[in-house]
Amino acid sequence: MSARLIPPSSELTQPYWRAARADELAVQFCQHCDQHSFPPRAHCPQCGSAELEWRTVSGRGSVYTFTIAYRPPHPVFSEHCPMVIAVIELEEGPRMISNIVGCDPATVEIGMAVQVAFEEIEDSKVTLPVFTPVKTS
Ligand SMILES: [Zn+2]
Repeated sequence: MSARLIPPSSELTQPYWRAARADELAVQFCQHCDQHSFPPRAHCPQCGSAELEWRTVSGRGSVYTFTIAYRPPHPVFSEHCPMVIAVIELEEGPRMISNIVGCDPATVEIGMAVQVAFEEIEDSKVTLPVFTPVKTS
C-alpha cells in the first residue's frame, strides 16, 4: 500500500478498474477484427467497430520503452523515486504506460519480460496495475 494520485474513472474505463480490484488485467477486444486494444475507447482503433468487449489478458508482456524519473513529477511520488515509467507491450498486442516496480531501476532494459502486479492505493478503492520483471531463475 502506498500513496498515489487516484486515476479518474469513467463509464468507459470502469471495467478496467473493476478487473484491477480483482487482481486481473482487462483490455477491450474487438469482436469484428479479433484485436485487443488499449486504452479504452468507444470504437476499435483498427476497424472502427463498436463491438468491443472486455477480456482478461495474461498480464505478461515486455518493455517497449522506458524512462527513469529521479525527481518526483508530483510530491506524492517522492517516496517512489527513482521511478521507472515504461511502455509495456502486452503479449496480446496493446501497449500501456505503467510503472516497473520490485527491482533496481538500473536493471530495467528494453525487451525485458515483465508481468502485471497489483498495487493498492492507500485510502482508496483503487488498485493500480503495475509491472515487475519475470523471474527467470
Ligand atoms: Zn476491430
